[in-house]
Amino acid sequence: MKLKVCGMKYQDNIAQVAALQPDYLGFIFYKKTPRHFDTKIPELPENIKKVGVFVNEEVGTIIQKVNEFKLDAVQLHGEESPYFCSILQSTTLLSRPIELIKVFSVLDGFNFEILEAFENVCDYFLFDTKGKLPGGNGYQFDWSLLNHYPSTKPFFLSGGIGLDQVDEIKQFKASEASKYCYAIDVNSKFEKEPGLKNISALKEFINKLSDKKMQNYNVDDKGYYGEFGGAFIPEMLYPNVEELRQNYLKIMAEPDFQKQFDQLLKDYVGRPSPLYFAKRLSEKYNTKIYLKREDLNHTGAHKINNTIGQILMAKRLGKTRIIAETGAGQHGVATATVCALMGLECIVYMGEIDIARQAPNVARMKMLGATVVPALSGSRTLKDATNEAIRDWINNPVNTHYIIGSAIGPHPYPDMVTRFQAVISEEIKTQLKTHEGRENPDYVVACIGGGSNAAGTYYHYLHEEDVNIIAVEAAGLGVDSGESAATSVLGKEGIIHGCKTLLMQTKDGQITEPYSISAGLDYPGVGPMHAHLCKTGRAEFMAITDDDAMKAGLELCKLEGIIPAIESSHALAIFKHKTFKPDDVVVMSLSGRGDKDLQNYIEYFKI
Ligand SMILES: *Cc1c(COP(=O)(O)O)cnc(C)c1O
Repeated sequence: MKLKVCGMKYQDNIAQVAALQPDYLGFIFYKKTPRHFDTKIPELPENIKKVGVFVNEEVGTIIQKVNEFKLDAVQLHGEESPYFCSILQSTTLLSRPIELIKVFSVLDGFNFEILEAFENVCDYFLFDTKGKLPGGNGYQFDWSLLNHYPSTKPFFLSGGIGLDQVDEIKQFKASEASKYCYAIDVNSKFEKEPGLKNISALKEFINKLSDKKMQNYNVDDKGYYGEFGGAFIPEMLYPNVEELRQNYLKIMAEPDFQKQFDQLLKDYVGRPSPLYFAKRLSEKYNTKIYLKREDLNHTGAHKINNTIGQILMAKRLGKTRIIAETGAGQHGVATATVCALMGLECIVYMGEIDIARQAPNVARMKMLGATVVPALSGSRTLKDATNEAIRDWINNPVNTHYIIGSAIGPHPYPDMVTRFQAVISEEIKTQLKTHEGRENPDYVVACIGGGSNAAGTYYHYLHEEDVNIIAVEAAGLGVDSGESAATSVLGKEGIIHGCKTLLMQTKDGQITEPYSISAGLDYPGVGPMHAHLCKTGRAEFMAITDDDAMKAGLELCKLEGIIPAIESSHALAIFKHKTFKPDDVVVMSLSGRGDKDLQNYIEYFKI
């Protein structure tokens, strides 16, 4: 959540508060308050937005103040009408674009119906406590009223927020009522006198709230995980993605949809997948290791959870034709499978080189009735297949749904895929309760290609402070070898497949070819959720080499009688590098089975 500090007055004090890096600073241009701003604004860092606060002011005056003080936002704290807001929004007299924040005062109750007329004429709502003065009264309203918030417009929470409210804010953040809470607005509770802010108290407040456990790790309403995510797409694709964005949550919430999804996961995929206590592996590493057996799903991995979800989504949206991209062919097979199940046409784009390398999966897709179209341009691998799929979608916007195979792509894909895969952690919670008497393990661990099995394994634990998260990437021949896929170490911020995330690239922004012995981890980026988990330190990232992974895979065969996918073997290899306590409970996603990797194991170990 963002922070706004309002009621700034004195130059030195403004500079001191700005040094704490709040997101917004508020200046009140209302003469009847002791915090009335009447001097100059000192030079501020560019990322701090300057908000002018007005009460029943004339449009001309507001425009003049915006231009004079280079304000980034206007907050209307009086009885301004929707029409008034629309004038401010559309005037050409402003020298710069502004964000418009409309304030509503709340006391014992609030009639949310009045918001409707303001929906299209402001950018944010702000809820303040109704009091003698317009703002700065220093007491709080009942935040649980926001449980009934009917809108999806992001809002500022204001009114009497001080250090005493830190715990309450934490609780609020965990509640449904905070879903659209965009920022917290503080003022009088952090003052030595009206307009003079108490720097040490503000610092303490910011520290307590920016505590890593306090962050939001879910996607926000604009499609971002922290600074990562969004939808960076060609304009021609906008209607397709927007149709999905507007409908996906609504459709997923329909009881009928949930019933059908659950039923297919149970009867067709074979869920719940077991949570297996790996006794001999646990003895070897002197800790308690549980394996979440996604390898036992129909088609041999977690990918089917997502394709089942998306095919049901496509049907609800009235689509009759499915396209997908695939690299090694795993996602192509999972997509062809559900298309056969539902009787929909299926076109899978695959690089020409990959088609030659992955003959068994190409054969599977064909047997399942899919058309495999070779991508002939560029390096003729996954990236080119993705480009072809996007081109197809642009040309067939009405009847076609594009099934993306990991927690990547433009918003809403990462969130949608994550929600379909979240069944993994949902099941872990109940299963672990049976095994250990508690829902939360000490660690959840998963390998990361794009990050869908990991996102599903972490989802219900993201905000559980006592659960540590470990993300395992492929180091290939070694992180510094030039032959690697360890994005968290080697990646920089960039845009790939429609979202902003961490990405392996050269100095001038060319995507670097990744390398890993496992086809599923051989991806130059990670999904935006994982970029955020990495950046904030919520997850610990480890990079595992080909060699360590292969040996850990073989070890699982010998100790537990399970042949894992090479992707999953990367996660298993962390026990060689990290020591856990004997009573730690470590839950690991065994994302897939090793049948598809037999040839690789045979060649590697000369079996
Ligand atoms: C595709 C695949 C992965 C990697 O994909 P994510 O989206 O990162 O989960 C991991 N394991 C297996 C078995 C796979 O098939």
